Amino acid sequence: MVNAVVGANWGDEGKGKITDMLAKEADIIVRFQGGANAGHTIVNDYGKFALHTLPSGVFYNHTTSIIGNGVALNIPVLFNEIKSITDRNVPIPKILVSDRAQIVMPYHILFDQYEEERLGGKSFGSTKSGIAPFYSDKYAKIGFQVNELFHEEALKEKIERVCEMKNILLEHLYHKPLIDPVELLETMHEYRDMVAPYVCDVSLYLDKAIKEGKNILLEGQLGTLKDPDHGIYPMVTSSSTLAAYGAIGAGIPPYEIKKIITVCKAYSSAVGAGAFVSEIFGEEADELRRRGGDGGEYGATTGRPRRMGWFDCVASKYGCRLQGTTDVAFTVLDVLGYLEEIPVCVGYEIDGEITTNFPVTGKLEMAKPVFEILPGWKEDIRGIHKYEDLPENCKKYIEFVEERIGYPITMVSNGPGREDIIYRK
Ligand code: GDP
Repeated sequence: MVNAVVGANWGDEGKGKITDMLAKEADIIVRFQGGANAGHTIVNDYGKFALHTLPSGVFYNHTTSIIGNGVALNIPVLFNEIKSITDRNVPIPKILVSDRAQIVMPYHILFDQYEEERLGGKSFGSTKSGIAPFYSDKYAKIGFQVNELFHEEALKEKIERVCEMKNILLEHLYHKPLIDPVELLETMHEYRDMVAPYVCDVSLYLDKAIKEGKNILLEGQLGTLKDPDHGIYPMVTSSSTLAAYGAIGAGIPPYEIKKIITVCKAYSSAVGAGAFVSEIFGEEADELRRRGGDGGEYGATTGRPRRMGWFDCVASKYGCRLQGTTDVAFTVLDVLGYLEEIPVCVGYEIDGEITTNFPVTGKLEMAKPVFEILPGWKEDIRGIHKYEDLPENCKKYIEFVEERIGYPITMVSNGPGREDIIYRK
């Protein structure tokens, strides 16, 4: 059986924690899109970890962690991440890397920085991990698949061809140092040696695993609103963040995905630029940011303070719909325990009309939030394991959100740890 864990919002919903928790019952965990640009924070018996490339199942002995073909594979980051966890006494995980995954090249990272510099004030707020240049090259058909590292002559020839083109941009558009193809080939040899022990025909491996009835978990990065087709284009990421893409980015049939667990945070946060209708500012935002997540809402990769907002029913209903949600995991609810009253965004006012349907970007930028105020519960709910034991107003908050988004909240997360979870139905 294949299940997916994906985000309903702008990312940072707590997918890492939910995946780590569900990984207990899983045999295989697959990353199917994205790259080292975002991170998951996981707290478990070994300590606190920020993972960027490895799937969140690497902390269990019984799981196999897979980097699917849809991922933007940064080989040195993967290598260092494996080292960073084994250095902290986590047993050496079983890792497989798709032979069709493409490689983030050193120049992708440079082009990402140069382009943000060139755009100046109009930049995308990229994490500068090379993701946009990487996916551009993949679809322009000048990317490098992992299997190409093992064919020396063809690799050398392709590197020369690609450098010729990249160097024109470096010289004339960015005015930066050129790439030396000989040096680049040497770097590719290093990458080849780092990745060689893990390379696998992943779709074949998963086909066999599915037939054997193995429990497979697909782990998404970011959330619906960062999807290049259905998100807040162009302030999106460059690979699809939707569960449907899990089939492509892992190489499995779409009908094998049985459960889609969409992670939704009890308030909103976002990184990077772009419309964010329920955003709050000033002291109100600072306090939520300080108390948020596990040790504050700051980027796992960049340390940047995240933009904060109240829960947005319009964006989350849309986010859950596009994922094809079967279950909602409602996370970080414990953080809201300090509030007397909790505003919830229940509609958008656009041109004098109120809607609960998430609009295209141009309209989104004009939208004003319509808030409804719910009473807070003023209590620490960490440590509670049964739904009935939650304070009355807390249950009302959950049920209000569930009704507005229209998808069942089957899990409530009330703390960063594996055991901080309340199953509902
Ligand atoms: P992801 O990218 O979706 O995995 O999200 P992040 O890891 O960036 O952000 C989630 C943060 O919230 C992490 O620091 C988690 O440890 C923490 N977290 C997850 N679930 C909960 C929860 O229910 N309560 C609290 N307080 N923190 C949580």
